[in-house]
Amino acid sequence: MKLTYGKHYINGKWAEPDSKNFFDSIDPASEQLIGKLSAGNENDIDDAVNAARSAFDHGPWPKMSGAERAVYLRKIAQKINDQLGFLSRLEVQDNGKPYPEATWDIEDTAACFNFYAGLAEELDGNSEQEIPLSEPGFKSKAVKEPIGVAGAIIPWNFPMLMAAWKVAPALAAGCTVVLKPSEVTSLTALAMAQIAIDVGLPEGVFNIVTGLGSDVGQALTKHPGIDKLAFTGSVPTGSKIMQAAARDIKNISLELGGKSPIIVFEDCDIEKAVEWIMFGIFWNQGQVCSGTSRALVHKPLYKKLLDRLSEEAKKIIIGNGNDDGVLMGPLVNATQYNKVLSAIERGVSDGATLVCGGHRPTHLDKGYYISPTILSDMQEDSWVWNEEIFGPVLCVKPFETEEEAVAMANNSRFGLAAAVMSSDDERCDRVAANLRAGIVWINCSQPTFVEAPWGGYKQSGIGRELGEWGLNNYLETKQVTRYDSDKPWGWYLK
Ligand code: NAD
Repeated sequence: MKLTYGKHYINGKWAEPDSKNFFDSIDPASEQLIGKLSAGNENDIDDAVNAARSAFDHGPWPKMSGAERAVYLRKIAQKINDQLGFLSRLEVQDNGKPYPEATWDIEDTAACFNFYAGLAEELDGNSEQEIPLSEPGFKSKAVKEPIGVAGAIIPWNFPMLMAAWKVAPALAAGCTVVLKPSEVTSLTALAMAQIAIDVGLPEGVFNIVTGLGSDVGQALTKHPGIDKLAFTGSVPTGSKIMQAAARDIKNISLELGGKSPIIVFEDCDIEKAVEWIMFGIFWNQGQVCSGTSRALVHKPLYKKLLDRLSEEAKKIIIGNGNDDGVLMGPLVNATQYNKVLSAIERGVSDGATLVCGGHRPTHLDKGYYISPTILSDMQEDSWVWNEEIFGPVLCVKPFETEEEAVAMANNSRFGLAAAVMSSDDERCDRVAANLRAGIVWINCSQPTFVEAPWGGYKQSGIGRELGEWGLNNYLETKQVTRYDSDKPWGWYLK
């Protein structure tokens, strides 16, 4: 596959950008330029939204059967699988993640298109539901219809997968889409555009405009031609998007940040707990919204577990994501690297103990690498315990009772995910029921399934993605009621 740099994808073809402004796409491992991408503006967004609007209002896409749309989704999935190696390498180059993790992302991206192809097919024959009425003479049904033109805005941590989580259900539902990828990692979105061209997706059904959040993102959120905004990213940006959507009451769904707890009881299998805790915070360099970044450890186990975690963290191989055996690559860019280092500094200056890491590994002098970092002894009200760092930084605190652990876990403005480790099933179920989070893992951390709902409580977001919930994000419900009686209705005709 050949990538087209410096253009947008609008109305089924590569489009020249309105301005001649470009931004750099940088490889975070080498700090070298990969290519120049178009810094879109509101005219580009206007073109893209108009194309999507026209495809929705006048084109074949929303009127096709689910089975017909599924054919396109399955072809997209097939092309993604065909290009697994190429797309995985592209993700490593753009984002920095290790190659094996990039292949999970790309395989999951294809699986997401296949899954929503299945749900599109199921819509045929299931999009109408008879509603039993207490009032005689009427017949009523609820009809599911595509919501319209969807604007999708995504972050940089799982670039192609986050695009799929929005684009696949939106297309399955019969919506048309304008996607704004993160300016930090736009390359696999451009590959997705090429795939859409290759499978012959009808004009205007899917559009991509690259550029900055403050230009392209904002223009998309404000555009009157958009019916639905689907956003994944930080809480401050989510709040701005809500405000923009409020002006003309756009439908929104928000997947935001987290500071997820993992509660470890003394009766757990310690070695399994170590493995899940390490994975839960250090995979994808800790740049994971659901990363279990707060470990709450039962006091009798605390010292032993902290020692084991520190021992294991020091063994993690860090380097270029393309190298064999590497478990952690660089952080995504210089901004994120500096943010994470200053978060660690702030934690330590507020009184936390640096158990391990906290710096660039000595063998790497280029690239945005940070060693796996563990902090302990911080106060419960400290900044580092409460705020999302979005990097390889684990905060560990002891607890004495189950009630205390649950209270500490819930004492957060976030509520995306939580995990509990214990051999006592009843305790696990009780704790899971008491945790205020959208996703709870028992004796594991992070597994994500396309079939299961994903999303957060509290400031971690609004709505759910994936599974049937993901499809419903892009469907409206219409009530259609028929008067089916010869008798006059009786307002004035008796
Ligand atoms: P971000 O909020 O900075 O940016 C996300 C996207 O929004 C980017 O495409 C950006 O260009 C765009 N954007 C920025 N300002 C905008 C504006 N004013 N209007 C419209 N769009 C704008 O987030 P990020 O740094 O890219 O990603 C990290 C964040 O994403 C973390 O907080 C993480 O927890 C969250 N995240 C959440 C989930 C989830 O499923 N809940 C998944 C992945 C990432």
